[in-house]
Amino acid sequence: MRTPIIAGNWKMYKSVKESINFANQLNEKLKSVKDREIVIAPTFLATALVVDALRFSNIQVATQDAHWENEGAFTGNISPLSLKELGVKFVILGHSEKRQYDNETDERVNRKLKNVLKDGLKAIVCVGETLQEREAGKTEKVVETQVSGCFEGIGLGDLSNIVIAYEPVWAIGTGKNATPEQANEVHAFIRSLIAKKYNAEAAGNIRIQYGGSVKPENIKQLMAQPDIDGALVGGASLKVESFEALVKF
Ligand code: PEP
Repeated sequence: MRTPIIAGNWKMYKSVKESINFANQLNEKLKSVKDREIVIAPTFLATALVVDALRFSNIQVATQDAHWENEGAFTGNISPLSLKELGVKFVILGHSEKRQYDNETDERVNRKLKNVLKDGLKAIVCVGETLQEREAGKTEKVVETQVSGCFEGIGLGDLSNIVIAYEPVWAIGTGKNATPEQANEVHAFIRSLIAKKYNAEAAGNIRIQYGGSVKPENIKQLMAQPDIDGALVGGASLKVESFEALVKF
């Protein structure tokens, strides 16, 4: 059985103070939840204090990126080893906004993924097509290229520390979400790619989250699909009541 995993990506929202306050409120609301994993990804600056606020809670902290080296002359970058030291559990890699604005590529995601796993962190690896690519009938090709590039050289033993997030770019922050059936179709395709590269057991075990305008109103239908194991949520994770409703779908 795959444990559902609901993650909130705060992007560049919330000041440090707001983040701590928000984390404390979430902790109060979600402390009785036992049957699913809960992850939040605050800004880098808020990370250490949010980890502290949630140290004895059932909410795990992620960051929205990390570097492919643990140290070196990489001005402005973040070492995953330091994140591990703080108590961070997950790193989100390959988010479409990193791909769009910071020249993130599958090759860089792959290097980062290897380093993050080596340091004992888990990863949420994001893939997904643009509207233009979907309309040109290229969804499967695009997702296949991304999965193949991001997972190059990743061993079978590492898969239990990786979650895949299928996030169609056209659905992120736009209010347009893929229908549950559209999303499930791509999830099943991604699972078939994992089966081909690794084996059927690994494909059956890996968790695939859907992301793209997930809200309390649509999460139930999405989670009812056989290949959707969770959600990566941006906008609707920024309010306590709505993130609580998402976690308790
Ligand atoms: C995201 O940031 O990964 C995301 C899916 O955003 P939103 O839920 O706002 O579409």
